[in-house]
Amino acid sequence: MGGTFDPIHNGHLVAASEVADAFALDEVIFVPTGEPWHKNPVMSAEHRYLMTVIATAANPRFTVSRVEIDRPGTTYTVDTLTQIAKDHPGADLFFISGADAIAQILAWKDLDKLWPLATFIGVTRPGHKLQLPEVPEASMSILEVPALAISSSDVRDRISDGKPVWYLVPDGVVQYIGKHKLYRGEN
Ligand code: NAP
Repeated sequence: MGGTFDPIHNGHLVAASEVADAFALDEVIFVPTGEPWHKNPVMSAEHRYLMTVIATAANPRFTVSRVEIDRPGTTYTVDTLTQIAKDHPGADLFFISGADAIAQILAWKDLDKLWPLATFIGVTRPGHKLQLPEVPEASMSILEVPALAISSSDVRDRISDGKPVWYLVPDGVVQYIGKHKLYRGEN
């Protein structure tokens, strides 16, 4: 599951659980982005990585990969999936992310190499009717996840407005954000 996770919230966790159930996945590897080619995350990669570790720690089927944050330069999904395929020989890989992100996939790097690496699953918020591009050589699906009414940008706005984010993000992540005073314009 790829994402900026800036910060990770309960919508991401419910989405991962729903996709794992729908597609009978053995494991979900959360992959926080390193340096995305299309934007700058608000928070450093280390903070985003640690919040993702805290959020997923209790679930034995969830793991977190440093593959993107440790790879120098711009983050491209094709490089990440190539590495994950090498690390898990023979595994049937699924790339899960926001449907908004997957809808832009035709602009991503090395499409010919990308398609055979994984099945692409776009998770979408209720009421957001999105169509994924039709690519004959690609395997893509969309799944609506009601819990994705939560968004990272809304969580960031609430924190900077001094509003609570309990129950929108896991408790340990609320505490981590408070301890490091994240998203208050000081970091
Ligand atoms: P984004 O533009 O930050 O997010 C787009 C939308 O998708 C937002 O509404 C976001 O909600 C949602 N979203 C993102 N990740 C999600 C997830 N794992 N589960 C549920 N919703 C999610 O997208 P991004 O995070 O930068 O990129 C998503 C993934 O696509 C990353 O793995 C990125 O590396 C990959 N990507 C690759 C390329 C390329 O290879 N050229 C280009 C673009 C993106 P929240 O803000 O609430 O998460």
